Amino acid sequence: MSRPDRCFTGGQMLSADQARAELVAAARPLRETETVHLGEALGRVLAEDVVSPLDVPGYDNSAMDGYALNSADTSAEGASLPVSQRIPAGHPGGELAPGTAARIFTGAPLPLGADTVVMQEECELDGDSVRIARGIEAGENVRPRANDIAQGATVLSAGDKLLPQAVGLLASLGVAEVKVVRRLRVALLNTGDEIVEPGRPLAAGQIYNSNRYTLTATLQQVGCEVIDLGQVEDSFVATRQALREAAARADLILTSGGVSVGEEDHIKAAVEAEGELSLWRVRMKPGKPLAFGRVGDTPFIGLPGNPVSAFVTLCLFGMPFLRVQQGRKDSFPPPARARFPRAIDRPLARREFMRVRLRHQADALPLAELFPRQGSDVLTSTVWADGVIEVPEGSTLPADSALNYWSFESLLA
Ligand code: AMP
Ligand code: MG
Repeated sequence: MSRPDRCFTGGQMLSADQARAELVAAARPLRETETVHLGEALGRVLAEDVVSPLDVPGYDNSAMDGYALNSADTSAEGASLPVSQRIPAGHPGGELAPGTAARIFTGAPLPLGADTVVMQEECELDGDSVRIARGIEAGENVRPRANDIAQGATVLSAGDKLLPQAVGLLASLGVAEVKVVRRLRVALLNTGDEIVEPGRPLAAGQIYNSNRYTLTATLQQVGCEVIDLGQVEDSFVATRQALREAAARADLILTSGGVSVGEEDHIKAAVEAEGELSLWRVRMKPGKPLAFGRVGDTPFIGLPGNPVSAFVTLCLFGMPFLRVQQGRKDSFPPPARARFPRAIDRPLARREFMRVRLRHQADALPLAELFPRQGSDVLTSTVWADGVIEVPEGSTLPADSALNYWSFESLLA
């Protein structure tokens, strides 16, 4: 993954788009695969195309409970036909005797000789015969063979993430096992001497370690295996040791905190000692400092320590990298559009990803309602909001401008 000629150790200022493009370009898809049963396939990424081994449905069948008949036996006024057999789903009948109808149920195979089903609500039983009081169209209420999928068709592609619908589609083909990309192993390290584990009492000047839980939960949600190396003691030796362990066990190392240019920056020195570091300043808010590099051959992403910044930068930069590693085709979701209620009179120096909630409108673009406190330490904003709106840097805007919006759901899909 390393591209030594593209090292930004000088602290180059990148736009958010440049930073994402650099990350995506450096990411390499995992090659290892495994075969899992369909029951375990949810959320996994397909490692190969899936070609249908059969036609679905495999035979012409009835879309309704009703009567199967041959449309040639009817006229514009309808028909009255003796009922010659009964065909429930799962019990194929015999050939339809000419000039008769068959009682038939949804999903049951259409008998040979029939081409149409009339729904039972439109039929009247008269002794052993069925009466239909209107002209019918040939082929009504019949689901033809291969209506959904033809044998040999590619139904899903390598790189597709298996959603519940896709798992069901595979089952409809009779596929019991699928080849998927091995789960991405992500090692997580937290830094900061002020950080305390939840469940323990806080001393003066301490705060709880929220990033560990936000980041772990995010990674779990997107199907990663988390190697939680916990909180690293704030020393060069311990940090270096932890990074080396992380590199040996993981496909990606994520850290939080210690990437701004402070004096307690053991991460920076330790990554440089074990590999290569590009410390980026990204022209965005929240989350200016973002570190990227490698420890040995394992890619490393250093997220900012502020809880909102850590979450938002994981969503906007970590996720695209990780999706490529997971073998997915789509590294970043397309934005939706929403109206931003404020005017921007003085151009922003940094692009802002503000936490907002969309208010849907009947006949207009949704309106983005801003959380009142947009500080990078205000974690409540991420819980209140349903996503982020992208307020561009370097330009003024009238109130009610249409801007890019991403839901957290789409960023973590
Ligand atoms: P840093 O990037 O290390 O300078 O940290 C920036 C801010 O984020 C500081 O206020 C830290 O206390 C806070 N912070 C760092 N790590 C965590 C964490 N794991 N959980 C909660 N807050 C953190
Ligand atoms: Mg710190």
